[in-house]
Amino acid sequence: MRRKIVAGNWKMNGDIDFANKFCADLRKRLSGSRMACDVMVAPPAPYLSIMSDAFSDADVTLVAQNVAEYAGGAYTGEVSAAMLKDFGCRAALIGHSERRTLFVESDERVVEKMSRLLEQGIAPILCVGESLEERESGNAKDVVGAQVDFVLSRFSAEQLSNLVIAYEPVWAIGTGKTASPEQAQEMHAHIRNVVAQADTNLSDGMSVLYGGSVNAATAKELFAQPDIDGGLVGGASLKVEDFYAICQSF
Ligand code: PEP
Repeated sequence: MRRKIVAGNWKMNGDIDFANKFCADLRKRLSGSRMACDVMVAPPAPYLSIMSDAFSDADVTLVAQNVAEYAGGAYTGEVSAAMLKDFGCRAALIGHSERRTLFVESDERVVEKMSRLLEQGIAPILCVGESLEERESGNAKDVVGAQVDFVLSRFSAEQLSNLVIAYEPVWAIGTGKTASPEQAQEMHAHIRNVVAQADTNLSDGMSVLYGGSVNAATAKELFAQPDIDGGLVGGASLKVEDFYAICQSF
């Protein structure tokens, strides 16, 4: 049985009041309900500490949106994997398309970041996805396959055992344009095949999430696809009721 996961990515949104209210509201909704998925939240780094306290007795995994590719030292503005671990982060996004495009995060840097996370026992959530141009030119599968393969080839099966992959077509992120369940399923099956070429046990057990304008109305059909194990949710994760409804879409 693969883990079902819904992870909310706040990006650079929210403030301290929002973070406090969100935690209180989500805790209330989760208490007493049996969830069919692991619930994860990725707030901006400054709120990790208060949210770690607020969720100390709730079944919510705290996720970092980013991590430094270095273990420590003179890297002004960076946050190390060890620091994330101090604040109770158990997972971290790497290679989100906003970081790949706006902050020039190459596949090589993604690998370094993943190495730092693994050293601290933090589960990496590797984001991959093609641009609109790449999809329209028929190269989507090659692009995504290469992104996955680049990372897989640098780690052992044991190191990859906690890896989660999030397929996020760049053209669907923040655009309100979701991939159809068929388009998403086709790419998820392809990703699983690429992983299977490295190790079949790994591909059978690896959770592959879909991200790109998921909302409470589209989640159910997407999550019903055989190779879609949940979602990475941006905009819709900022409203607790929507986020909670997505978490219940299995
Ligand atoms: C994301 O940023 O990972 C994302 C999927 O955003 P949105 O849901 O807003 O498209």
